[in-house]
Amino acid sequence: MMPHEEFRRFGHELVDWMADYLAHVRDHPVLPKVHPGELTDRLPPSAPEEGEPMEAILRDFRELIVPGMTHWNHPRFLGYFAVSGSGPGILGEMLAATLNVNHMVWKTSPAATELEQVTLGWLRQWLGLPEEFFGVIYDTASTSTLHAVAAAREAIAPEARLQGGDGRLILYCSEQAHSSVDKAAITVGIGHENVRKIPTDAEFRMRPDLLEQAIAKDMAAGARPFCVVATVGTTSTTSIDPVPRIADVAARHGLWLHVDAAYAGMAAIVPEFRQVMAGVDRADSLVVNPHKWLFTPVDLSAFYTRRPEILRRAFTLVPEYLRTEPDPRALNLMDYGFQLGRRFRSLKLWFVMRQLGRQGAARIIASHIAMAREFVRWVEADARFEIAAPAPLSVVCFRLKGPDEPNQRLLEAINSSGLALLSSTTLEGRLVLRLAIGNIQTSLDDLRQVWDFLRSS
Ligand SMILES: *Cc1c(COP(=O)(O)O)cnc(C)c1O
Repeated sequence: MMPHEEFRRFGHELVDWMADYLAHVRDHPVLPKVHPGELTDRLPPSAPEEGEPMEAILRDFRELIVPGMTHWNHPRFLGYFAVSGSGPGILGEMLAATLNVNHMVWKTSPAATELEQVTLGWLRQWLGLPEEFFGVIYDTASTSTLHAVAAAREAIAPEARLQGGDGRLILYCSEQAHSSVDKAAITVGIGHENVRKIPTDAEFRMRPDLLEQAIAKDMAAGARPFCVVATVGTTSTTSIDPVPRIADVAARHGLWLHVDAAYAGMAAIVPEFRQVMAGVDRADSLVVNPHKWLFTPVDLSAFYTRRPEILRRAFTLVPEYLRTEPDPRALNLMDYGFQLGRRFRSLKLWFVMRQLGRQGAARIIASHIAMAREFVRWVEADARFEIAAPAPLSVVCFRLKGPDEPNQRLLEAINSSGLALLSSTTLEGRLVLRLAIGNIQTSLDDLRQVWDFLRSS
């Protein structure tokens, strides 16, 4: 065991390292200049027989591990969805690791169980969601959506829990939906062929009229539509499906409506962007990711459902008639998902929400949206470039006019320069550059450097 005094000494040293890293993260290239296998080849093939001094471990961390990192904390990390932790989130994570509890049932850690409910209640208010939405934390949006699909199946086909699916349950989402919807259908046993990809309109939003038609066609063929997943903030372009109209269709046919707002949901913290969540109050379930746009270190995904009794029925192995709920306020969270053990994720979110406050969080999110608008103006002002999709939030899809090849070269040039990381997507068969703002330290000056590089390359 590490002597307590040694723990204290290295703890202080590491917090100093962490503070320096966050203050000077711009000094690192965003993407490391390494090749596959490079780290593996530099590490011993087996673990040591006898323990090593901390000095040696930390030296290797600094000299071998850090140079091989892609710095998601870098303010010019603008690929995928730019995420960032934040000071309070990192400190909360350290304490959660220190306490190291497993709150599968209330009594295995009452405070961890209750803090999860309290923080998700706070977040529900920040997002303007109905009070009856019950919240539970999972690791990722993929896991949240998996639980949504399992609950949807439980609601419509409760026999499937015992007997497996009959291959006739049909799930709907748009052709722009995240692959986690497909994976959920595969994992739950719905079958990939039973996921219907509804076409989108010119702005990449699901067409409710075509959803209605697809449902009618499946019902006429004797299949059982059971779930529709609407996306608020699609992964490619952050388009927002017309949730109110999709909710009408779902209600008409008795389908479970799950809303995937993993990234864009947080925009609702800003009063002027509340409307991104229009209609979500009618959803059966919803996922938003504080680890995406609420400055909480990965991983923490918030799942909400207005029908927690269905979610519990889908996952509990305690038969209803044997349930002992000595106190309705003592939740056993293991009954609300497939995992038994659960780590104390809510602590870091509680730290972040308290340290920023709603207005503090809203100011940062609004500034990201404002910076994206500014970037759009720069692109529009340069005749060689074009905007490739509407940019309602903090993600901009743009490209050099003309063929894909120069766009590919430009992407490789900026990413290999170490200055910034952008990603790409395909829209209407064309390669599109994608710039996503979401890091707590990103400034307009960072974006100006990126734009200067792009237009002068
Ligand atoms: C990022 C994202 C996901 C996947 O999130 P994970 O937490 O990595 O599983 C799913 N849906 C949407 C819309 C996303 O933006």
